[in-house]
Parts: sequence; C-alpha cells; structure tokens
Amino acid sequence: MKLNIQNTFTSELPADSNPNNFTRQVDNACYSLATPINTKAPKLLHANKEVAKQLGFEEKDLKTQEFLNLVTGNQIYPNTAPYAMCYGGHQFGNWAGQLGDGRAINLFQVQTDASYTLQLKGAGKTPYSRTADGLAVLRSSVREYLCAEAMHHLGVPTTRSLSLSLSGDQVLRDMLYNGNATYEPGAIVARVSESFIRFGSFQIFASRNDKATLGALMNYTIRHYFPHLTENDKDSYAQLFQEVVNATVKMIVHWQRVGFVHGVMNTDNMSILGQTIDYGPYGWLDNYDPDWTPNTTDSQNRRYRYGQQPNIGLWNLYQLANTFYTLTEDAKPLEEALASYKTQFETQNLEMMCAKIGIQHPNKQDAILIQSLETNLKRVETDMTLFFRLLATASQIEDCLEAFYIPEELKGETLTEWQVWFEQYQQRLIQENIPKEEIIEKMNAVNPKYVLRNYMSQLAIDAAEESDYSLIDELYTLLQNPYDEQPELQKWFAKRPDWAKNKVGCSMLSCSS
Ligand code: AMP
Ligand code: MG
Repeated sequence: MKLNIQNTFTSELPADSNPNNFTRQVDNACYSLATPINTKAPKLLHANKEVAKQLGFEEKDLKTQEFLNLVTGNQIYPNTAPYAMCYGGHQFGNWAGQLGDGRAINLFQVQTDASYTLQLKGAGKTPYSRTADGLAVLRSSVREYLCAEAMHHLGVPTTRSLSLSLSGDQVLRDMLYNGNATYEPGAIVARVSESFIRFGSFQIFASRNDKATLGALMNYTIRHYFPHLTENDKDSYAQLFQEVVNATVKMIVHWQRVGFVHGVMNTDNMSILGQTIDYGPYGWLDNYDPDWTPNTTDSQNRRYRYGQQPNIGLWNLYQLANTFYTLTEDAKPLEEALASYKTQFETQNLEMMCAKIGIQHPNKQDAILIQSLETNLKRVETDMTLFFRLLATASQIEDCLEAFYIPEELKGETLTEWQVWFEQYQQRLIQENIPKEEIIEKMNAVNPKYVLRNYMSQLAIDAAEESDYSLIDELYTLLQNPYDEQPELQKWFAKRPDWAKNKVGCSMLSCSS
C-alpha cells in the first residue's frame, strides 16, 4: 500500500500550539493534531473501489488488514499526522461560536489527479468534541456512505465515500431525544474530498478578528483550489467570494432537481467548493412538498425545508460575505456577488425545471408553465421521482397515474386539472420542434429513475443491524446508475410503501447520530 502523501493543510497553515487532545477553545490556528482511538473489533462492511483507485490504492489493498486498520483509525499511515479542523458556524440562524471537527479526523492528503483529503467520521474525540463522544453509529454511517455516492452518480457535487466499517464498540444514543438512550453499533465512514474547508472555517477567524489566520486560510484556498486568483489581493478575495456564490447556486439547483433536502444547512455544513457535505438528517422528497423537512429538530420552524433551500443558501452566503469583508473592507463587490445569486438561481432553476420537462430552449413564458406545474404537483400527493420519469414517455396525464396518491373520490377532478396543464405542455413541446426520442433521452438524463428514498436507507440499516449487509451493496450498486433502466432492480422504482410514511428514519430523522 503506497500512497503519494502531500500534507499541504498541516504544513502550510497555522497549527494549534497545544499538542494535547482535550476539549478547548483553539485560537490562531486552522487545525489541531488529533489521533483516532483504537477500536475493539474493526470490520469492513463496504469499500468503494472507484474512490480507492482515485486515491492511489490498488484493488488488492482493500482486502488487507492494513487497509482496515487505516480506515478505522487503528493504524496511522507512515509520516502522517492526523488532525481536526477548527471552524465555527451559524446553527439554525444563530452564531454558535467554535464548532470544529468534533468527530471527524483528517488522516492525510494524497496527491493523484488532484489533491484529496481522507477523513474518518466517528473515530474519536478531538479538541472540538465539546460535550460529545466523537463517535458515530451504524445507522447514520450507512446513510452518509450511501447518500454521498448516490449524489455523486446523480451528478451533484459532493464529498465521496471510501469505506464503511464497524468499530466493534457500542455507542450510546438517545435517537429521539426523549430520554430513551440505547446502545447502538459504532461505525466509521472514511470520506474524501478535495477539501473539507467550510464557510464556518473562515467565519471563526473573522468572529475573533484574527485577520492573520483568516488571511492565511484565504491564501491557502486560492493557492490550492482557485489558482487563477492572486494571494494577498483584495480583489481576488472578492472574486473568490463570487466563485463560492456561483458554486453554491449550482449545488442547490442540483438539490432541487433531484429532490434532496439537506436538513441542516448551517454555515459549518457549507463547503467552500460548493460540495454537498455532512450527511445528517437529510431526506429525499417522496411526494412533492416544498414545505417538507426531514429534520425533527427543525420541525417547528422548518428553516431548512425543501422549498427554502435556495433562500438559505443566500442567507449563508451573506454570513460568509461579512467574513470576507473583514479582509476586503469593500462591500460593493461582495454585494454584487450576493445580488448575482438571485439572478443566477432564477435563470438556472428555470433551465433546470424546463429540462426536467424536456424544454431545451426556455423562454420567459415557461416560468408560468413551471409555476402551474408546481401547483399541480402539490394538489394531491405526487411522487416527484416517479412523476418526472413517467412524464418523458407520457402522451396523456393518465400515463403518470402511478405517481399519484389520489383518493378515489378525487381522481376525476385531479386529472381534469392536470389535463389543462398537460395540453399547454404538449403545445409547448411542439414549438420546440425536437424529435420525441431526443426529448425522452434528455429528460431521462436529468430525471433520475432511482434515488435513495428515505425508507430504502432504513431497510438497509435495519438489515445491517441484524448483520445482513447485502442491502447496502444492492443499493450502492443500484445508485451507481441512477438514470439507467435496471429491470432487475425495478422494485425500487415505486412509491414509498405505506408503512414508511410515518416511521422514524423513513420520514423524519433527528440530528442524533
Ligand atoms: P453536525 O450537526 O453534524 O454538523 O455537527 C455540528 C457540530 O457538532 C460539529 O462541530 C460536529 O463535529 C459536532 N458533533 C456532532 N456529533 C458529534 C459527536 N458525536 N461527537 C463530537 N462532536 C460531534
Ligand atoms: Mg457538520
């Protein structure tokens, strides 16, 4: 097992001067050294060959004890010094101060086609663990492992998953925060990204008026991820902010396209590269409901509901703009970048929605057609994934019937409402003058056939808790080709079953993980 280690993060950025691992406030530093704990009986449940290869592992490495020890934190790769990153964040709209990698430990960076950081989630305490244990349980680890890969293959920018392992230790969790704590199997996900730098990584230094560390991180970000920009240059910092805006818009438009609800869009969970990061109580829309949030902690205000995600993206960018202002001291370019968020989102969202219904050349009137589509989608419960997939080959609205949960008595009325829209839609497609086969092909390339429905993860978790890991593998395989017909796995192209509607883990999730 030979990797091309290149630890730029630890060699180029200010370190915590205290080498000991105890919970504390860390000043003037981007990271603290932190060693993963040894686990009782590590066991590899799944490894991702594609990501492994990208990092420079050979296929035979994945079967070795050395690999298992590495991805469970039981052995440190030679000449590396694992570390936890310092960051802060706004949680549910309030500044929360220092947060940091409380249960994530970065092992190292490798240089292959790009530079990648390998990070373990659930490998023990760090100086940022606050009152928690630094561990993760199997259910949340299965969810993170599968979802990051599902998102990648859907074409959504995201961190990736390298491996899923059991630690062999038991972890105490009060899943519903109702005083019923129980022991659950501990697990560790090894995840990968070009960078785990977050909005909150910058915010923490601005909040402390620590311009030196903020500048160091800003320059580091430019050097490694935006090399066309200039270090120590205010205009470049403003340009960097614009690029973060652009990347964030793109990511959120993708989320809306596939029906993904992140659930905890705190600024510490926003990647500076515009990647989806930190898969906690996320969820996928079954029925199209813009007001839906999977996160029980957010059930009162539903701040992070599906339909609100674009606005929250902007809110989070406002917080980041304030941070950048600490160094640029010029509000104008930052304000312009923020203003561009709205226009970019409107344009890209309309293009995206039009693409979902097969319109390749959107015009102004299409916004009205899309609006009435959304009104209809909300009229009765309508499965979002099924609807858009069926629409590609539908010649009348009745062809989409499988997507609807229509009570018998409302069927006639609902279909009549839909018929009006469908006729306008057909007229619009005629104007486009594109062969039907091409429309179908293009629609199927943006409307996934298979997504990681909430109940699917839960089935995989239930089985895994009984030591049956086959469903993890089945879903992993299924979701590698989410846009393709997979007749042998057609059973996953179906509405959520009734039993899943109000079941914990299938329709609502807590942050406890
Ligand atoms: P999250 O809501 O998962 O983004 O986490 C918010 C903050 O809490 C981050 O600083 C996490 O690292 C930290 N955190 C979450 N769970 C744990 C845990 N079990 N042990 C230590 N820190 C945690
Ligand atoms: Mg987080």
